[in-house]
Amino acid sequence: MGNDGGSIPDRRDLVRTKAKAEQADKANQTRARWFFCALSKRPLQDPVVSCALGKLYNKDSILEYLIDKSAYGDGENICGHIRSLKDVKTLKLTPNPSLSSSALSEPTSRSPFVCPLNLKEMNGVQPFVYISTCGCVFSQAGLKTVVSASSMSSSPKEKDSHTELGEVATSDSELEICPQCATKFSRKNDVLMLNPQPEEEERMREKMELQRSKETKKTKKRKNASPVDDTEAPTKKKALPAMHPSMTAASRAALAMEEAKRKATMSEAVKSLYGDGKPAKKETFMTRGTFTRYA
Ligand SMILES: [Zn+2]
Repeated sequence: MGNDGGSIPDRRDLVRTKAKAEQADKANQTRARWFFCALSKRPLQDPVVSCALGKLYNKDSILEYLIDKSAYGDGENICGHIRSLKDVKTLKLTPNPSLSSSALSEPTSRSPFVCPLNLKEMNGVQPFVYISTCGCVFSQAGLKTVVSASSMSSSPKEKDSHTELGEVATSDSELEICPQCATKFSRKNDVLMLNPQPEEEERMREKMELQRSKETKKTKKRKNASPVDDTEAPTKKKALPAMHPSMTAASRAALAMEEAKRKATMSEAVKSLYGDGKPAKKETFMTRGTFTRYA
């Protein structure tokens, strides 16, 4: 019996309790990472997107954040590296076949998603990856098995020499085929870890920054070459909110635009969302995604 004066908890008891608490905390953190949106903390729900750092988000939450960066208090800390929808990829997740639809609404320790190759659950026990070209999600082990079996002929030495130069390997002979949708991808550059360990996350962040510094150089060159882009963009931007007056998304977006104008300084997110100063091709893709999401 405790607390009757007969027993005094010694160090062993206290330390054991602490260790147990730490374990439970770790389990909760794992669960939070794999079952909930990193931004909104709501349960993950299709459509789910991931970023260059392999975090999982509900696409709705990212849209809310891009329209209004203060929508989530700590949004800037969590996804400050997401500048537009171009910085996230919609994931193609495989529903867990062993979960019935009725069980999905109840809180459960089972993951709603699995690897389509070996049916392992996406719950933080197995490392999972996604392919950035198509968005398909696999367990790392499952993808490794399939891909290494199909690419015995290509020489790994050659691949290394390419990456050492810092160039993206793009020749067809070095590309793999996604086992789920047959989209081509580079094993070196397009396979991203989901919810990586801290060291891996650091590597992914470095890679992202390198990639972005290359991109800005490219866009600068493009802008100098074609000044037409800059004059075209403002007219399209004005026409956009009026195009779908009946749609909630459109009116919401229009409201956000007004808000932004009132603030005089338009936030980077809204700018990039409407493709301000970017090529027209990007703009239509972005807006299409925005509207169909709510349609
Ligand atoms: Zn795919």
